[in-house]
Amino acid sequence: MRKLTEMVVASGNRGKVREIEMLLKDLPVRTLSLDDFPDAPAVNEDQSTLEGNAIKKAREIAQFTELPTVADDTGLEVDALDGRPGVLSARYAGPDSDSKANRALMLVELEGVEQRSARFRTVTAYVDEDEVYIFEGVCEGVIATTERGENGFGYDSIFIPEGDSRTFAEMSSEEKNQISHRSEAFKAFAAFLDSEISSTP
Ligand code: IMP
Repeated sequence: MRKLTEMVVASGNRGKVREIEMLLKDLPVRTLSLDDFPDAPAVNEDQSTLEGNAIKKAREIAQFTELPTVADDTGLEVDALDGRPGVLSARYAGPDSDSKANRALMLVELEGVEQRSARFRTVTAYVDEDEVYIFEGVCEGVIATTERGENGFGYDSIFIPEGDSRTFAEMSSEEKNQISHRSEAFKAFAAFLDSEISSTP
């Protein structure tokens, strides 16, 4: 691995980038995001797995920026739906669906279903030259029967993490970040970078 001084977080979502920067803040590395590369290609997330999409995104952005790059992909796996929507979580209610439509469809599909266990899974891929490193974070929980809470995004208002009775959307972002799938994946990544930085002369 080359000596790491700066890296790219392959996301243009400010909230997500800020969350990731917080998790990496103790490392001596400058983080850039897609906002710093307005001409970066839009990556088509067409792979059949979270890992495939995360690697594809990290590789294409690393190639464009010529910098080490980290990318992530997240899915919500619902046991009563045999793991769906999973990698298709963003397009669950159709190719142009938004989060509101996705949540509404989920509540309809689970109407009357008692077994509501589910999990968010985040896969993070870090690409540095030809090397690819993968990290994963999982947050177990259940799907609520109605939407609750105003915070967050995506499926937050219908997901109740294990050990709590509130949905993610009823928590502050700090509370959610303590236990979320994404923070678990990025904490594992941060620990890896920390050990790589300390062992690189
Ligand atoms: P992405 O991989 O972050 O683009 O997310 C894929 C899909 O999962 C999108 O529909 C997001 O809204 C949803 N999603 C990702 N992370 C979360 C989360 O932390 N809470 C709720 N929904 C999420």
